[in-house]
Amino acid sequence: MDIGFIGLGQMGRAIAANLIRAGHRLTVWNRSRGPVGELTQLGATAAAEPRDAARAEVLMTMLADDGAARSVLLEQGVIESARRGLVHVNLATVSVQFAGELARLHRERGLAYVAAPVFGRPDVAREAKLNVIVAGESSATSRVEPLLRAIGGRIWPVGSEPERANAVKLAGNFMIASALETMAEAVALARAYGIEGARFLEILTSTLFASPVYQGYGRLIAEQRFEPASFPVRLGLKDVRLALQAGEAAHVPMPFASVLRDNFLEAVAAGEADLEWAVLARVASRRAGLAS
Ligand code: NAP
Repeated sequence: MDIGFIGLGQMGRAIAANLIRAGHRLTVWNRSRGPVGELTQLGATAAAEPRDAARAEVLMTMLADDGAARSVLLEQGVIESARRGLVHVNLATVSVQFAGELARLHRERGLAYVAAPVFGRPDVAREAKLNVIVAGESSATSRVEPLLRAIGGRIWPVGSEPERANAVKLAGNFMIASALETMAEAVALARAYGIEGARFLEILTSTLFASPVYQGYGRLIAEQRFEPASFPVRLGLKDVRLALQAGEAAHVPMPFASVLRDNFLEAVAAGEADLEWAVLARVASRRAGLAS
């Protein structure tokens, strides 16, 4: 299939490479040129402008946030110049409000919009094992299903309104951030009583909390390994803010999300915006007067 791909960050470049490996023809665009070279070496064609990527049958985008997507898709004319019948698959974690707006703008121009945010970090993306949450009109989602199979371990359809997929993704990331904060405070408590963080986490993550999120991030916290970041604080803060925004729009109080937002802000204020979001553990230890 002819695919346009915009946004070759940590996630996008791994996903795009898997689509090429699965035999698809990719035209790629990224704001900075470095990652474009990586993909053309694998066989992709470089687009001069983002709108050139929208002349394909399917456009996939993996941009950082609402602002980046608005700038590229709307202000740089991608949606405006897309060919009729194009299916746009947005893989990024964006707000439910923006997903609704994009769905409407696509409909008005005879384009299909599919929200397909993903669970899984860049290493999972490289292995093509992402969990893909999909929502959109069934005629569009069935057309892109083979592409989603090429990048994901499992596809989870959640209905025809695109924003539903974003609600699932934001609620899921809120759960991960909550797990990070829980571990952060619990480790600080254990350490204050002379128990090493690594020992404490070994006990809990091999027994009561033996699940991927606790084990994976537990290892990073135990080793205090917060860089290089696969998912930095700045993206975690974005997602908690988006969860709060989605909650407010639907009258869903999320008091714990407010606490998480402030804790991420504290990390940003300490110069830790580009560190792994598990650095919440360092924030909690610092508050407890423990050296990290
Ligand atoms: P990333 O490495 O920071 O890449 C962000 C991408 O957005 C890059 O291609 C960047 O271009 C582009 N971008 C940012 N601002 C832009 C602007 N104003 N105009 C044009 N392009 C812009 O982020 P990522 O980890 O790939 O994440 C991408 C999306 O996936 C985010 O929504 C994130 O929440 C979501 N996600 C991430 C993970 C993860 O573990 N990392 C997991 C699941 C979902 P440049 O290369 O020029 O900077």
